[in-house]
Amino acid sequence: ARLANQIAAGEVVERPASVIKELVENSLDAGADKIDLEIDRGGHKRILIRDNGSGIARDELELALSRHATSKISCLDDLEQIMSLGFRGEALASISSVARLTLTSKPATQSEAWQAKAEGRDMAVQLQPTAHPDGTSVEVLDLFFNTPARRKFLRSEKTEFQHIDETLKRIALSRFDVAFSLKHNGKLLRHYPKANTEASRQKRVALVCSAGFGEHALNIQSQYQGLHLHGWLAVQSSNTPDHQYFYVNGRMMRDKLIHHAIRQAFEGLLPPEGHAAYVLYLQLDAREVDVNVHPAKHEVRFHQARLVHDFIFRALQDALNQATA
Ligand code: ADP
Ligand code: MG
Repeated sequence: ARLANQIAAGEVVERPASVIKELVENSLDAGADKIDLEIDRGGHKRILIRDNGSGIARDELELALSRHATSKISCLDDLEQIMSLGFRGEALASISSVARLTLTSKPATQSEAWQAKAEGRDMAVQLQPTAHPDGTSVEVLDLFFNTPARRKFLRSEKTEFQHIDETLKRIALSRFDVAFSLKHNGKLLRHYPKANTEASRQKRVALVCSAGFGEHALNIQSQYQGLHLHGWLAVQSSNTPDHQYFYVNGRMMRDKLIHHAIRQAFEGLLPPEGHAAYVLYLQLDAREVDVNVHPAKHEVRFHQARLVHDFIFRALQDALNQATA
């Protein structure tokens, strides 16, 4: 029961962006290296995701839509290890209980594709054969159609799209090995090709975070006592949105200690109208850090907090000093 409770604690369907997050994570879990999203009307009307991952066998389609049916966990120990990606086994079930969901899939080993449709809470699932390339598509129509109270909480199309865009950016900065695209109302707005070289990774960062990270980004590479930091720094003008992304062992974090170290490193170096922008990746032994189990909190606790803080501060300060010298 403890596992079930921990699992149930995760928030799932809050708004269109949370649907996108869950669906993209499923595609990543399935080993996809190409993920395409089509959104209509900020996701209220329609969300479609297509991946080229391992697919779901015909006989497992219905199961994939049922609550606590996860193929990814067998005991509590696993929970710690795969916390970063969908571990709760309820995303598809939760989404299909508040929308009209169509799951279409074809594993490479199966000769034809199959489609399962679920609508609302009664969960009567219909199966039929269809055409689809290897991989999976999930279409989510009319989000919250049967829960007017929740529907009321949806913001404007523009605001919901911004949340979706931000969700995709965070993921795109953590998976350079996967190509992503995003269409809104039929228009291709984002396209992040696979980035397998340092130069193409920096290009993706510039695409995601806008111009400041182009030519003028400052490259960070630093290592000390099992800590490894790499990424990019830039100064952006105050009237552009914040681009501050920090990943700890591949997961995005917003953490006071990290924030403090970065702010301190920039102290006195920012022009009056500028603010610090960064995309940074810290790698360290997983046993040296506790990640809050709540997936939305982005909090982290380092066992050697002082060491980590000073390491980040020093790595950035050195790079900044060299650049401004
Ligand atoms: P979880 O991801 O926690 O296992 P979900 O409800 O998100 O739970 O998904 C249920 C199951 O459906 C997954 O365990 C997986 O087996 C299957 N699944 C979902 N999406 C995909 C996908 N895009 N490709 C392959 N399998 C998928
Ligand atoms: Mg999942």
